Amino acid sequence: MEKNRRMTRQKKIILELLRSTNTHPTAEWIYEKARERIPEISLGTVYRNLNLLKELGEIMELSFGGAYKCYDGIPVNHYHYRCRICHRVYDVDMPLVDQLSKLTETGDGHRIETHRLEFSGVCSACLAAGALDREDAG
Ligand SMILES: [Zn+2]
Ligand SMILES: [Zn+2]
Repeated sequence: MEKNRRMTRQKKIILELLRSTNTHPTAEWIYEKARERIPEISLGTVYRNLNLLKELGEIMELSFGGAYKCYDGIPVNHYHYRCRICHRVYDVDMPLVDQLSKLTETGDGHRIETHRLEFSGVCSACLAAGALDREDAG
């Protein structure tokens, strides 16, 4: 455990990058940013460190629609909002739904340890840019 707490420089930088953004980046984005500070780093190293950080409970891995994975520097459960126009993923500033947090078992005997909740629609930035007007116009 003590060994796990000692962070390598690479792991530390990857965690810093992830905590510096709320855009839920992909491993590729993190790789591009990490290269600015560690030119010799490889994509494989980035993936390895992301997995380690995930196991340590420092970050979360999210997969949206199963299409691609992205990473979240906030290690505690929170809800997400995904825009169907720009595909950006936002953190939702609302408390966890108590009813869901308290569930310990599904009706048919599966033990519940965590839950995920994702909202989707058209984000405020896309609304402001008139995305729906364009959609209505066809
Ligand atoms: Zn949007
Ligand atoms: Zn998040």
